[in-house]
Amino acid sequence: MFATLQDRLEATFKRLRGKGRLTDADIDATCREIRIALLEADVALPVVREFIGHVKERARGAEVHQALNPAEQVIKIVHEELIQILGGDTRRLRFAKTPPTVILLCGLQGAGKTTLAGKLGRWLKEQGHQPLLVAADLQRPNAVEQLEIIGQRAGVAVFAPERGSGVGDPVDVARRSVEYAKSKLYDIVIVDTAGRLGVDEEMMRQAADIRDAIQPDEILFVVDAMIGQDAVTTAEAFRDGVGFDGVVLSKLDGDARGGAALSVRYVTGRPVMFASTGEKLEDFDVFHPDRMASRILG
Ligand code: GDP
Repeated sequence: MFATLQDRLEATFKRLRGKGRLTDADIDATCREIRIALLEADVALPVVREFIGHVKERARGAEVHQALNPAEQVIKIVHEELIQILGGDTRRLRFAKTPPTVILLCGLQGAGKTTLAGKLGRWLKEQGHQPLLVAADLQRPNAVEQLEIIGQRAGVAVFAPERGSGVGDPVDVARRSVEYAKSKLYDIVIVDTAGRLGVDEEMMRQAADIRDAIQPDEILFVVDAMIGQDAVTTAEAFRDGVGFDGVVLSKLDGDARGGAALSVRYVTGRPVMFASTGEKLEDFDVFHPDRMASRILG
């Protein structure tokens, strides 16, 4: 996903390493190159500004002037600031004091929510939890069946509305699923909700109604990293319409330019918590800002 950005930064750093002492003009030139590389990678403008601002201020300061190897010091600063933009420390899931922990998934249709429900369920089960997946996406034909299939593959139980019960009420399904989890001693409930192709008031209202009915411990916004700058506007719409605690970046295996992955934390003020990197259930991991920064800088 970050191939072009990696190449450009590598070339910039190579030029930088070729110099001994660094003048302010050298630092400005380096910052200009990084700025262009980030913009070309589709990183949102306010994020680029903030990032470059910090790098420039630090790079012109004493830590670089007094360094034995000024170029390496600048690169270290870029690395550290990249980690900051990506969220600093890894943000882990918060579990409820009294089980079940309720996790609500929201996001656009096709973002990867249903797949993520299976991945998260599988991952939590591996850690000794007893998760329950809940099919509260009653909008999309086959969504319930899709979750049931994924649940089966993941070896995780699925709570779905009774067959032949009509369209049903997702708020009711979600509410009943939490009661069911309590009675059957599932300790984590993962609720999949309906998305639409674009931001839509009805979708937001439904997700907010489910939220109010089940009071989730964590609301995760799932976003397709391939949709570029749209990821940022969608994230802002969900933050305002439903509110969320953390972000899941899906399709990080794609060949888009990756700017969304770099922007969403800063723009929404919410941490990226998980990364989804393929269609298979095991293509999933906790998001580590430091590892992502290292990957980008090569
Ligand atoms: P939903 O509408 O938000 O529930 O999205 P789905 O979970 O149905 O995913 C939409 C499509 O994206 C499916 O074909 C998934 O197999 C695919 N998908 C989901 N996550 C990933 C991922 O991380 N990488 C790739 N390459 N495909 C994914």
